[in-house]
Amino acid sequence: MLSVRDLDLSYGDAQALDGVSLDAPEGAIVAIVGANGAGKTSLIRAIGGMLRPSRGSILWKGRDIAGEPSHVVCNLGVGQVAEGRQVFPTLSVRENLLMGSMLPRAKARRAQNLDRMLTLFPRLAERHAQAAGTLSGGEQQMLAIARCLMGEPELVMFDEPSLGLSPAMVQQVLATVVDLNKTGLTCVLVEQNVAVSLRLASRAYVLENGRVTLSGTGAELLNDDRVRQAYLGL
Ligand code: ATP
Repeated sequence: MLSVRDLDLSYGDAQALDGVSLDAPEGAIVAIVGANGAGKTSLIRAIGGMLRPSRGSILWKGRDIAGEPSHVVCNLGVGQVAEGRQVFPTLSVRENLLMGSMLPRAKARRAQNLDRMLTLFPRLAERHAQAAGTLSGGEQQMLAIARCLMGEPELVMFDEPSLGLSPAMVQQVLATVVDLNKTGLTCVLVEQNVAVSLRLASRAYVLENGRVTLSGTGAELLNDDRVRQAYLGL
């Protein structure tokens, strides 16, 4: 469904991605693991059209979207939930959700999708008129996810969705990702909780200094000595 090939990306002279290739088959949860600065966010932003790669291709359902702007990528069904949540703090929960359905892809169904999101996330329904900036961190993460879903994506890239949340909220956010995947959503997951994300993932990649150094099923990487030492502290 998504197939990245030989992707390079630089910030000026600094190369952040070096020949990255990865696949996200339809219905998969794909985990991307790596230390700080390995290039995970750069990769997600390149796929999402926020950064322009200098080389390589990003095939989405057979079409090369490398270098396309983010509204085009998003309108083709590739959504992302950015690191740090980034809800509009002064807008209400409801207004934030509606912002997620501005593109032609989902605009005609915004009312139905809003109802669907408020049913799926009862906590957001209770707080629909409240300014998003007054929600707890976990609620803001749920809002960021729901806002992304308002655009009817077929694949969602989650960048550190559990960052800064309480252990209970971490569980809830990751359970939400699993539930969405069960409904058919293809998920790309960048997660600091390496063990958990590998357990959930049908496919996983280790990124080091902008390169893919290991890949396999989540279970294979969980049992890999290099992964166990470097990322699981075992
Ligand atoms: P983290 O987990 O810390 O977010 P990451 O794996 O997501 O790390 P990136 O944020 O993609 O890594 O960063 C990859 C490299 O690119 C790092 O060396 C980083 O310093 C550099 N980098 C990221 N953004 C920029 C930028 N806007 N300008 C210059 N260099 C950048």
